Amino acid sequence: MRAVIFRAHGSPEKLEYVTDFPEPAINDDEALVRVRATALNHLDIWVRQGLPGLKLPLPHISGCDISGEIFKTGRNVKNWKQGDAVIVAPGISCFNCKFCKSGRDNICATYGIIGEHIHGGLAELVKVKKEQLLAKPENLSFEEAAAFPLTFLTAWHMLHTHAQIAKSKSVAVLGAASGIGVAALQIAKLAGAGPIFALGSAAEKLSKAEALGATHAILVKNDNPAFYREILKATDGQGVDIVFEHVGPATMESSIKSLKKGGIIVTCGATTGAKTPLDLRYFFTRELRLQGSIMGTLNELKEIVKLVEAKKLKPVVDSVFPLEKTREAQEKMLSRDFFGKIVIKIL
Ligand SMILES: [Zn+2]
Repeated sequence: MRAVIFRAHGSPEKLEYVTDFPEPAINDDEALVRVRATALNHLDIWVRQGLPGLKLPLPHISGCDISGEIFKTGRNVKNWKQGDAVIVAPGISCFNCKFCKSGRDNICATYGIIGEHIHGGLAELVKVKKEQLLAKPENLSFEEAAAFPLTFLTAWHMLHTHAQIAKSKSVAVLGAASGIGVAALQIAKLAGAGPIFALGSAAEKLSKAEALGATHAILVKNDNPAFYREILKATDGQGVDIVFEHVGPATMESSIKSLKKGGIIVTCGATTGAKTPLDLRYFFTRELRLQGSIMGTLNELKEIVKLVEAKKLKPVVDSVFPLEKTREAQEKMLSRDFFGKIVIKIL
């Protein structure tokens, strides 16, 4: 089958388009999905570069946000037949332990992400567990359907489960033009939260963020991200209840100073580095919280699918590349010159 693989970790040049990769074999509880579209995530870049503690058999195929059609099913895969249009839940767990059975599958001991821990969707065919199959919302194209699961799930889990977003809460969304930022803005708006601050590094992208629900747009300069001053000014010196973080050391100090007393930073990423300074005195005297978040649960994803079908949440596609141009697509992602999701179409 056709696929984009890497045989060694490193820069985008390591990505290789091949036409003769072996077709995955499935067991009785798995299905083979013919991939129609796969959206890129920063995770693809981290996995290509290599993550400490993640030892992958190489070559590897990344790609965690997948839409497509059922191609083949194992004996125990009921309710699905060849040709059914699906999206693939990116989280993989045992679906059988006490955490999985209580609906907290994202903290299952075996939890992993398709495209990170096992081969993903940058290929013609991908192997998935039957529990990962969800019907594709009919109102979406395959490209749009690939463009929402991971980011909306992650943002939902951060804002609802961890930060209890609600009508009365104010929120600052960092990297508001990114896939996850676009999801966070829409989820915050749908919850009735406000004010909603969109932070980003390009003015034209911030005006798009305002169209998605942001009430205030703040341009963040890389060399001096003192955006907290503008947030304090707009909130009578109080700050916001929630800071939605995924940037890391470049913004963390300002993120902390943007918080109201008792406020919470929820973070799911570290695009500017892994280590960050933290003034503990400021932190404890104001009773601030720093909450980590990883993906979300299968039930949360099912809830999101319903909201997408009801057009209350909307995937935003920046651009579409063919599979053989995956390297260019990842380079565009690294350039930060995009708004929403970059999608790979597999013809
Ligand atoms: Zn489990």
